[in-house]
Amino acid sequence: MAAPPRSLPALTDALGSLERGQRRRRRLTVEPLGSDRTAVRVGERALVDFSSNDYLGLARHPALGAALAEAARQGGSGSAASALVSGHSAAHARLEAALAAFTGRERALLFGSGYLANLGVVSALAARGQRVLLDRLCHASLIDGARLSGARLLRYAHADAAQARARAGAPGLPLALLASDGVFSMDGDVAPLAALAALARERQAWLLVDDAHGLGVLGKEGRGSLEIAGLGSREVPLLVGTLGKSFGLYGAFVAGAAELIDYVMQRARSYMYSTALPPAIAAAGCVALELVAHERWRREHLAGLVARFCERARAAGVPLLPSSTAIQPVLLGEAATALAAQRRLAAAGFLVVAIRPPTVPAGGSRLRVTLSAGHTVAQVDALVAALARSCHGDEP
Ligand SMILES: *Cc1c(COP(=O)(O)O)cnc(C)c1O
Repeated sequence: MAAPPRSLPALTDALGSLERGQRRRRRLTVEPLGSDRTAVRVGERALVDFSSNDYLGLARHPALGAALAEAARQGGSGSAASALVSGHSAAHARLEAALAAFTGRERALLFGSGYLANLGVVSALAARGQRVLLDRLCHASLIDGARLSGARLLRYAHADAAQARARAGAPGLPLALLASDGVFSMDGDVAPLAALAALARERQAWLLVDDAHGLGVLGKEGRGSLEIAGLGSREVPLLVGTLGKSFGLYGAFVAGAAELIDYVMQRARSYMYSTALPPAIAAAGCVALELVAHERWRREHLAGLVARFCERARAAGVPLLPSSTAIQPVLLGEAATALAAQRRLAAAGFLVVAIRPPTVPAGGSRLRVTLSAGHTVAQVDALVAALARSCHGDEP
């Protein structure tokens, strides 16, 4: 990364250079459209959204909207303080207890967002002079947490447990913390959690699994990557989950043993020095958790769509990465290629956003297709047909 510019002309140059490299980011303005949970309007176009993280189709669920509105009507719009001052309410306590029960842990602690949770937890449990080990593709918030901690940051090749072991260094060398995404956000594959748990135990390191994309989605009960791997609080002491993805809301939490979570609460600066979530979000979170836990059909329908998408897209020659989750990346290489494919898909009625560096490595630009329980089989089939055409460069 070049040093940030110090004058307006230099800023203009820097933006121009991003533009020429097809890396300048612009936001779409996306509006919900009608009662179909995945229909959106972008400019003049009605599109089916295949780019959200709303895996269970809850972000526009009427019961959640109603819970949010009712709780805000009764309890107000904001928490008005950080949780350690006066921002912690009965609704927050109820949601923390429910999340602890759902994840099979003694305690959960709510954070403002997943970014803040990872920043706070990692920097609470590692410090200058210690070592932290992360997967090369883990989420930016884990990396930033490690940087903030001042600990030495070590990375291992993506999902390579053998290299993680090698990078951990000689057995006498202490390791403070090992962290990985459960499901990787841009690749959709799953971490080798059992091997990481064994390594963390041997090295007496804390193990943190960030299951932002697994929780609610994977496992019969929706308990995520850890349910699939058959691992609990003993093997994985720190589980981070978010409310902004399969829960259809906003916010996040870390769950684990009571003393460990209490320690994090004493030390995590992103917890201490940030306003608590609005209590209405916490109240709606309890309703979302009920839906996540009990409406199994959402996971089953989604799993069916994922299997169908993979089979048909592969048969049609769409260059999918090996993922069996709701995140299905179509690898296209150059940023310009991915942007052109995004434009062709929009013309065909689909919102599938191109992901470019620095979010993915150079040469790894892709369309990140995400499937949701809110999609129909017909929508998925139509997307596959459009992808097959647009990956071969055909106009719709
Ligand atoms: C989205 C995400 C986060 C950040 O969560 P927010 O609540 O959006 O801040 C953290 N980790 C992973 C793996 C994510 O995908």
